[in-house]
Amino acid sequence: MRLLFIGPPGAGKGTQASRVAERLGIPHISTGDMFRHHVSNGTELGAKVDAIMKAGDYVPDSLTVQMLSQRVAEDDAADGFILDGFPRTPAQVEALDELLSEEGLDRVVVFEVDEGELAGRMLARGRADDTEEAIRNRFDIYRKQTQPLLDVYGERGITVSVDGMGEVGEITDRVIAALHQS
Ligand code: AMP
Repeated sequence: MRLLFIGPPGAGKGTQASRVAERLGIPHISTGDMFRHHVSNGTELGAKVDAIMKAGDYVPDSLTVQMLSQRVAEDDAADGFILDGFPRTPAQVEALDELLSEEGLDRVVVFEVDEGELAGRMLARGRADDTEEAIRNRFDIYRKQTQPLLDVYGERGITVSVDGMGEVGEITDRVIAALHQS
């Protein structure tokens, strides 16, 4: 199954993507995790994206698409994967469409969350980009650039909504149930 998990910053999609990927036996592909890995390993790409991520801005599409394309081409992704945090812009949707050609995504899981509660959760998490200013910026950019993608995938009839509030294990069960029902 080729899945995309999407939702606002701090919605818990990374946690859920990793849990659901394990249950389904497919890789969890997180562009955020991949970028953080580059930053902590001091790679050339890491040096380019460090300040961008700290500010809560989006990394340029060209860099993001290149990194993601290479990952999706790896053997373990041949039978499916969960994309977490990609695509985030219309240009990335286009790039993914080309990459997956006629097969496309099977399902897009949309995490419905109480946005008022998210900033508090993120500040508690304390990642390098979980400062008040960066969080505000990430929400703004999400609304402007990523939220419209929900309509794009909605029109294709492949979105399923999941209540993303509550206990981690319960949410995982909801995602699995939603994937079975849809
Ligand atoms: P995440 O872990 O998904 O919240 O991503 C953390 C940060 O990595 C984002 O705030 C961006 O700076 C960068 N990033 C991750 N995925 C993308 C993407 N698809 N496009 C642009 N920037 C991204």
